[in-house]
Amino acid sequence: MEGDPKNTGQHSLVGYIHNISEIKKGTKRTYFDAELQEKHKVRRLVVFKADMHPQFKAVNNDKSPVHLHNINLTPSLTTEGAHDITFTHSSTLSCLSQLEYSYNPTLSSNQEDLTISEIFKTNTTYRRVNVKAKTIQKKSQSHNFVRDGTFLTNTTYMIADKTASIDLTVWGEEDISTDGWYSFTNISIRKFEGTTFLSSTRDSKFTKITCHENTCQVEHTTSHNLTADIIGAKVNVLHICPLKHPIPDMPLSTSKVRCEKCNTFYRSSCITNYTHGTLTIKTPTEIKNVQIENTFIKSIINVPDTANTHTIIDSLLELPPVSITLHQNNITRIETIKPHTKQLDIPNIIITPSPTDSSTLFPSQEDLEQFMVDFTENTPSTSTSTIPSSVIQPTNDPQSTKTTSHPKK
Ligand SMILES: [Zn+2]
Repeated sequence: MEGDPKNTGQHSLVGYIHNISEIKKGTKRTYFDAELQEKHKVRRLVVFKADMHPQFKAVNNDKSPVHLHNINLTPSLTTEGAHDITFTHSSTLSCLSQLEYSYNPTLSSNQEDLTISEIFKTNTTYRRVNVKAKTIQKKSQSHNFVRDGTFLTNTTYMIADKTASIDLTVWGEEDISTDGWYSFTNISIRKFEGTTFLSSTRDSKFTKITCHENTCQVEHTTSHNLTADIIGAKVNVLHICPLKHPIPDMPLSTSKVRCEKCNTFYRSSCITNYTHGTLTIKTPTEIKNVQIENTFIKSIINVPDTANTHTIIDSLLELPPVSITLHQNNITRIETIKPHTKQLDIPNIIITPSPTDSSTLFPSQEDLEQFMVDFTENTPSTSTSTIPSSVIQPTNDPQSTKTTSHPKK
């Protein structure tokens, strides 16, 4: 089958079956991938007869040579000049007793290791490659409903090796930290409006590796850190079925919920929620709106399964000042500011407001409240605090003075 096969012609090929994927759900039909090991090469094989998954698994387990009949060959999306095999509903598979060459599990068609500068030089999009690189920066996080209507999060990282840097969009929840070296396998090359970037695929794997190489000189794109108060919030809560379909109008007090797409009732406890929204933040210099996604919301407040938008907004608005990293207007890191005096055993502090104006003693009420949250009751007073000692007057008679406490306590 060398030469230049026509796309639509019917062909037949012999070889061994390798690397059978799980059954996947496409837009219109289910399918699975595999590879056919021929005498000198390996081709990608897409099987649209998903009910033949067990037969393919069986011939793979038996390392049995096979003959594929009535298959189509189409130009490869992943390897220039090559042709992939499409196993359609009119294709058939039969077992052969032997072939002149043997089963070789180490051959593979699409596991090519490239450096980032080699990735920029390739002309083929959708080609799958492996790359070893360091995560430099998290650039954005978002979520989407993909073609078949299922819900997926995506996170874009800047990654770099010693040759260059490139953006990598990772679909789904993956445990990837910044400043770590990873082996990214089965990553797809994409080009959009003249920009080359990488995208994870259903088969991608991310493995943390030890590497002490320097990366090329990389400039962080315009992320910046700031400290702010959350003064406003707008929140959406999405409910997602176990097969990642959205459930609109999720009832929060019933024991089962129906997913229309699955046409199945699920236990309510199996439905996950995904929150996202806009925070209005106030810094000493400005008030602005920034986007926040689920993981960041859940990193600063507790979001129970039964949370509605109002309880989430209440929790967000009650927070002490936060430290934020922004990339454009997207939050890529957020934490509540932990007062640095936390470990001090300073007790039962009573603030006596000065007769004039206590705001002259503290930059703001928030600073004061944040300071107050450190103190616990009934331990001896020490004077290691940074609050001006003139306003700290421990007393045993709480009735005689006005106490100030943090709103969360
Ligand atoms: Zn569903």
